Amino acid sequence: MDLDDTFAFSCKLCGNCCRWEADGRSVSDNLLTGADVTRMAAHLGLTPGAFARRYARAVFDPALTKKVMKLRKRPDGSCILLHEGRCAAYPARPRTCALFPLVRGYRFALDENGAAAAAEYFSPGSPAPAHKCGVDAVFTVRGWLAKNGAPVHDEEDRIWFERLWRYYTGACGAHHHEQIFNNLYVFLL
Ligand code: SF4
Repeated sequence: MDLDDTFAFSCKLCGNCCRWEADGRSVSDNLLTGADVTRMAAHLGLTPGAFARRYARAVFDPALTKKVMKLRKRPDGSCILLHEGRCAAYPARPRTCALFPLVRGYRFALDENGAAAAAEYFSPGSPAPAHKCGVDAVFTVRGWLAKNGAPVHDEEDRIWFERLWRYYTGACGAHHHEQIFNNLYVFLL
């Protein structure tokens, strides 16, 4: 989907996107980006390290063969930041949460100079029945981003996913691999 494409969606305020995990995962199970951590930490008046220690957990990602950062969950599967049905970091919430049910993706390719060119796209996502989402309203992608305080082009997100793409595809050296995770995760934990 492009920015002016439309999709149907309506939120029923059930909050299940912040707590549901009937299939073993929930929105709060999503990977946090480095930008998510620094943005949420600043919103809550914490250093990134303090935020990570209080609200995040390190989870081994078999695909990356590295530990990555996710939000903590309560025993009932709800996100640690969900309080009385509301997100305690709503204005700074992870981009994955802000875009829900949309998903932003990038197709990267290296040009002849080794620079990465990114083609950005959006997918409508697929809320599960337990989410209780409706389809009563129609939005453009652009309108949905504006409504949810997400940038049209998210430079922080693009940089993050370019780094992951370079890691996945081996488009950077081993030293760079370590640097990515040392800078973005390890020193925070
Ligand atoms: S960070 Fe906020 S919006 Fe995202 S899952 Fe947690 S409570 Fe919900």
